[in-house]
Amino acid sequence: MRDTEPTKLITIVEDDPDVAKIIEQVLADFGFRTAWCRSGGDLLRRLRTLAPDLCIIDLGLPDMDGIEAMQRVRAQSGCGILILTGRAHVSDRVMGLELGADDYVLKPFEPRELVARVRSILRRREGHETSARQIAEFAGWHFNLGNNTLTSPGGVEHALSTAETELLKVFVSNPNRILQREKLMGTRDLAPNDRAIDVRISRLRRKLEPDADSPAFIKTVYGAGYLFLATVNWSGGVN
Ligand code: CA
Repeated sequence: MRDTEPTKLITIVEDDPDVAKIIEQVLADFGFRTAWCRSGGDLLRRLRTLAPDLCIIDLGLPDMDGIEAMQRVRAQSGCGILILTGRAHVSDRVMGLELGADDYVLKPFEPRELVARVRSILRRREGHETSARQIAEFAGWHFNLGNNTLTSPGGVEHALSTAETELLKVFVSNPNRILQREKLMGTRDLAPNDRAIDVRISRLRRKLEPDADSPAFIKTVYGAGYLFLATVNWSGGVN
């Protein structure tokens, strides 16, 4: 266990020192390096010199809302984001995922569960690294799996979260086929009725579809799943 992810750096943004200590300890037990930031401002300062693989962000921070901290991290880093929150409201969780978090854990949490979520996000990100430089083209769009960007026919570039990238990767790899929700969730341990998948679909649609109410690419197949309607060409896989 100890040697599986020896060099990954996890930034913990948490104002409660006791909680931060527990998280740092359990992550250290599993071989991660950690950096503790006690506020959103502290995190943004540290990001100038640190390049974390993943940020764990508490939603309740003293100086800014965790959601805002998350958006600012997302704007300047491609790292994974795990939200830690005592807010059990579905709306908070959905909003976090809408805004680009890869996952969330509710407080109080089981430390090993937290580590499992962290590892799951990092595994997915590593999967993307192996497909670095691969570009999927469809209807004038360019989806670069190496840097999680989606570029419109008009040249507008969208940064995708890890979870959105994973979802779009499944779509472009399986065009014109009905995909069940379970398939789209990949190896993640979401329940089939988890709203997270619908949230991700709607986020992708907002980036992809000129008319999100009448989607041209990501079609809903009622009672069955989703279908990605496009001819996909791949390039850039080897050089
Ligand atoms: Ca807090």
